[in-house]
Amino acid sequence: MAPLGGYQGKILRVDLSSGKITTEDTAKYKDYLGGTGLGYKILWDEVKPGTKAWDPENRIIFGVGPLTGSGSPLSGRTSITSLFPVNIQELPGTGHMGGQWGAELKFAGWDSLIIQGKADKPVWLYINDDKVEIRDAKHLWGNGVFRATAEISAEVGPEVQVAAIGQAGENLVRVSCVMCNRSHSAGGMGSVMGSKNLKAIAIKGTGAVQIAADKKAWKDFVYEYLSLIGANNQGVVPTTPQPWAEYYGATRWNAQKGQFWGAANPPVETGVCSADDLNKMGFRTHKGVLDHGDGPGQRHTVRGGGCHACPIRCHVYTDVPALETKYGVSRYNANTCIGNSFGKSFFDNLASGSEIAIEASQLGCALADDYGLWSDYGQFPRDILYAYRKGIIKAKLDPKEYDSIPWKLLDAGDPAWLLDIMKRITYKQGELGKLFADGPAFLEKKWPEIAQFHQTYESSCWKDAHAKHHSNENGGQVGTLINMMYNRDSQCHTHSNYLASGLPLAVQKEIGAELFGTPDAVDANNNYTKMNKGKAVFAKLSLVYLELHNSLTACNWTLPVWVSPRKDRKYRGDIAMESKALAMVTGETVSRADLEMTGMRILHLFRALTARYMNEKDMRKNHDKANEWVFEYPADKPALSAGVSRMDRADIELAKDLFYEEMGWDKATGMPTRATLEKAGLKYVADELAKQGLIA
Ligand code: SF4
Repeated sequence: MAPLGGYQGKILRVDLSSGKITTEDTAKYKDYLGGTGLGYKILWDEVKPGTKAWDPENRIIFGVGPLTGSGSPLSGRTSITSLFPVNIQELPGTGHMGGQWGAELKFAGWDSLIIQGKADKPVWLYINDDKVEIRDAKHLWGNGVFRATAEISAEVGPEVQVAAIGQAGENLVRVSCVMCNRSHSAGGMGSVMGSKNLKAIAIKGTGAVQIAADKKAWKDFVYEYLSLIGANNQGVVPTTPQPWAEYYGATRWNAQKGQFWGAANPPVETGVCSADDLNKMGFRTHKGVLDHGDGPGQRHTVRGGGCHACPIRCHVYTDVPALETKYGVSRYNANTCIGNSFGKSFFDNLASGSEIAIEASQLGCALADDYGLWSDYGQFPRDILYAYRKGIIKAKLDPKEYDSIPWKLLDAGDPAWLLDIMKRITYKQGELGKLFADGPAFLEKKWPEIAQFHQTYESSCWKDAHAKHHSNENGGQVGTLINMMYNRDSQCHTHSNYLASGLPLAVQKEIGAELFGTPDAVDANNNYTKMNKGKAVFAKLSLVYLELHNSLTACNWTLPVWVSPRKDRKYRGDIAMESKALAMVTGETVSRADLEMTGMRILHLFRALTARYMNEKDMRKNHDKANEWVFEYPADKPALSAGVSRMDRADIELAKDLFYEEMGWDKATGMPTRATLEKAGLKYVADELAKQGLIA
């Protein structure tokens, strides 16, 4: 491919069966941008229906996009796409990883990496600019992520960026992940690497990513972009009244006077971070306080951290000395969100915001990030707790195994419980370890009591045993539709970031009218109204921008900037910022409409891929589902009644009608129509689906 800003022009392909290392022209895949779009395209072209996640024929695609490495704000993400081992049918899925790895791949001169085949013994891959080697991993296999990373760094130099699996991935634990830079995980994908005998991928890149725009124009653009970004999750107003702010609300912009990174030496005050002070963006979100409560959160936070080219720094680095003295792991840890709640989610008896809770949280990090064990958004720990409390585990397990498990530690709320349970799952020890290593969907098939539990509100479980993730509680029908679309938890924050901006409802509605065509697209929190066309547009755009972020690649945990902290813009952001960034980086003309068409193409392709692997033409009935609790909240919980979070079945059927219409999908089946596919440049997809009898 001729040199073009943003792209390096070539993609690396490694066949671990034959040891062949080859190069592909990026131009072949440009209609899909990169990242997830590229991953879906490779799966469509190369992985036949019927292939399973751990088959050598499966691909694992480490996709980065044209923005990664350019310095465009929040562009440090990597999308890892494959057949998803946690899904009961092993349908296509994707997981995301941050840190510096994606940018380093670009600096080494590669737009993405495709891995196929299976090595006959454990190996690791070393990418040193153009020099690519498959190296023996005998000395790394059996070790955790930390040791593997340290060994590789000692071998080739500390500047290397390493993505590795731990023992969980090696042992084909379905709930396993790929880790890089300590706190970033691609949930669910670890065992695919393990099945290929691939321990790690390490990169050293000495090049750069070219930007087509001239330096001054690019710098001005980046400053403009930064001025539209708020705090983590795009909270655009502070949580507490501030002299500079017109509004305050429930957001992650929690910086304030008297609030500290207390374990820094000397302690650092986050203080007042006004919207126009871009140098303090990294202080706006004190994630330690958000994840661990005010007291322990301030006491144990050393600093914030995060991914390449991100000013938000939503990861919290902690120092908890008790971890060393009481549990024998490092006192220093780093993570964000679910990584920090994983350890706690194994308990139902820890006071939130307590010292013991942060110990459980950070012990959980230390173990999970080393084993490469994935939280699955707390779903399997919730299942363990339920099964234990209800006596299901006792009834099912051999008494000898049951008695060998230190339940007393769980009952006492002692974090040391994690040392046993996490190891048991990572090494698939006993019946319990094996069952939970497979994840909730497979467990459902073995233990019907768990399948029943998943249909209840307390399980927090969505369809096909995936954890719910910003679903009906976020925009009623909008969150519900979004959570129906994927083959795992939806990982969509576009809609939830808009709704969690902290702006007053009237302002959200005003901006919503401009974005979605009607103020009625946006409801008050926990007070949704009947389905309408505006909500279908809201759901569609949320999904389009999710796929665009995962393909460009950029962070959907904070983007898009549909609103902003800027009073001078009446809190408007700019929905065209992604297309403007792409145009500036590549030097091509890219309008908002062009880019959204690309997002639609990626979504249609994903839909077609799923239908093809399922061999299913009625996606409406057999794929786009929700568990019973979504429609049947318990009557004794009025706060969860209709119009609050409980959805109405007929209204959701209407929501599907309106959403499919927006997408250009057949209303009866939820399948993309031939006309829609052809308009999006996917005639070859339409032809293949027709051959399989899935569309006309
Ligand atoms: S907001 Fe957090 S997850 Fe997103 S790019 Fe920044 S540091 Fe990474």
